[in-house]
Amino acid sequence: MNFSELGLCSRILRALEEKSYTTASPIQQKAIPIIAQGSDLIACAQTGTGKTAAFALPLIERLVGKNEEWRKTSVLVLSPTRELASQIVENITHYTKYLPIRCAAIYGGVSKRQQIQALSKGVHIIVATPGRLLDHLGQGTIDLQHIETLVLDEADRMLDMGFIKDVYKIMRALPRGKRQTLLFSATFSNQIKDLSTKFLKTPVVICINQENATADRIEQTILHVSNTRKPDLLSHLIQENNWKQVLVFTRTKRGANRLSEELNNAGYQSRPFHSNKSQEARQKTLESFKKQEVDILVATDIVSRGIDISDLPLVVNYDLPELPENYVHRIGRTGRAGRTGQAVSFVSPEQQKYLKLIETMLKKEIPEEPLPNFKLSRIKSLPKKKKKIKS
Ligand code: AMP
Repeated sequence: MNFSELGLCSRILRALEEKSYTTASPIQQKAIPIIAQGSDLIACAQTGTGKTAAFALPLIERLVGKNEEWRKTSVLVLSPTRELASQIVENITHYTKYLPIRCAAIYGGVSKRQQIQALSKGVHIIVATPGRLLDHLGQGTIDLQHIETLVLDEADRMLDMGFIKDVYKIMRALPRGKRQTLLFSATFSNQIKDLSTKFLKTPVVICINQENATADRIEQTILHVSNTRKPDLLSHLIQENNWKQVLVFTRTKRGANRLSEELNNAGYQSRPFHSNKSQEARQKTLESFKKQEVDILVATDIVSRGIDISDLPLVVNYDLPELPENYVHRIGRTGRAGRTGQAVSFVSPEQQKYLKLIETMLKKEIPEEPLPNFKLSRIKSLPKKKKKIKS
């Protein structure tokens, strides 16, 4: 189905053409007409399905017909992470490039002054993380009195990250009366069901992929290897396969720092990517990785959802995640928008239990690859930093 069949105006269509969107994805085909009608919606869709455009396009189309002189904020999108918020804004800014529609990103880790300036000029759409939004609300620098549509993006993640109380506070700050609420979630847990019964009115429910299913387009393999041999195995695989843009996941921030340092010492261009890094540093790192100036990004789960790189070929789980859902989110960074991808997981004996959890959730076994022959100490393992002893 083409986007023109979905009732979008020529100025949006032109922007989509420039982004080489030729056909609407399944979630877009289903969600756009429902949202355009004004219904509440629960959309169960995995990451990489094109869900941002699915909610953004009909909401932008609705704004086109409104009086543009008075820039009141009628759309609020809540995102669990700064990266995701920034990516949503990036997409919306592109879709509205031929329209006088303004969108603001409101998230922490960056100066509030610029956000206040943007808000004071008037914006139609706000994309925010809960904490910073509440901050602005508390200071009276944001006006939500004209919100007509609320989008809860990656609602499951919002709950996982403990934002539920903040979401309730934000809900209470919204005008009473008729409001359209759209809830997007990769998984559909009981908690999400509770949330939807509280906030949504007779929603239409659409599910694009089976719950917790990983995309078939992603070729998944596991390699059994001890923790001490992992750096050398990674280095071996990068060289043997000539891997160019690799997203590697570690369990801890410290682990990400260490591995990135080891890789840099071995001559690779690597950067750690986790929540201890400032927003600005994360943004810069992500840009360099997208431009392939950095070959290996070593990330932790907390920021994983914000990484949207359409051609990312490969994800390596250097450590398996403790929560099986995070496996789905991690490997969903590749194989986006219908492309193929590869996900390789290193499983040490200690992490065998996490593999069991993942396979139980996926209801299938992940194929095992034999360990290749590789020499130890291609990468010199750095001595572990001594913990400071409190006096
Ligand atoms: P999302 O699920 O919104 O994070 O989108 C995943 C990726 O798919 C993003 O890089 C989008 O720019 C891209 N995308 C979304 N819709 C389409 C489409 N109809 N055709 C091609 N790419 C798309």
